[in-house]
Amino acid sequence: MLKGALKLVFATNNLHKLKEVEQLLPPNVHLISLREIDGTDDLPETGVHLEDNARQKARYIHDKFGMDCFADDTGLEVEALDGRPGVYSARYAGPACNSEENIRKVLTEMNGIQNRKAKFRTVIALYINQQEFLFEGSVNGNITETPFGTEGFGYDPIFLPEGDTRTFAQMSLKEKNKFSHRARAIQNLAGFLSGNDEEK
Ligand code: IMP
Repeated sequence: MLKGALKLVFATNNLHKLKEVEQLLPPNVHLISLREIDGTDDLPETGVHLEDNARQKARYIHDKFGMDCFADDTGLEVEALDGRPGVYSARYAGPACNSEENIRKVLTEMNGIQNRKAKFRTVIALYINQQEFLFEGSVNGNITETPFGTEGFGYDPIFLPEGDTRTFAQMSLKEKNKFSHRARAIQNLAGFLSGNDEEK
């Protein structure tokens, strides 16, 4: 699909996500932030699936600015908690909570539980040429007993990805991008944009 340069808005107000994604897209994709287009409104995310929220966010910016655009929605799915916090990851500890409070809630609920298996899952919705496409990426891992590391954001300090002995918050951005959920979803998006269709 991608012949020349392509301008794409990334519909996120999360600067950590923007930084991660900037490193992953091919050079001919010109990534535009919401700040550049004065679009830093609160984005709608009222769905009950990651797919719904990714769609809502991307469609909101696409409709408002008429630009090709994508958005991601991510959830931490913990096996012993029946998949929670999942789509409610952002406000797990309450409507105005921060990441520390969300982490504390997960660790409290996991207290004494042996099965620490979890998965990060990202869904990306792309609006381009009046069409919608979805892409997905995930990574399996385990929830640690206590937080480790200061890099990254969100639940990174308590997520130990399979195949490594460090949490995402103990890794550089480059290392996290080697196998994170978002990196895998973006690789699928990038493959699609360059003609190797990996649509979900
Ligand atoms: P959203 O995709 O921005 O709605 O994020 C949902 C929640 O998951 C927020 O609490 C984020 O901080 C958290 N989150 C999203 N992506 C990541 C990640 O890559 N690592 C850790 N936490 C994340």
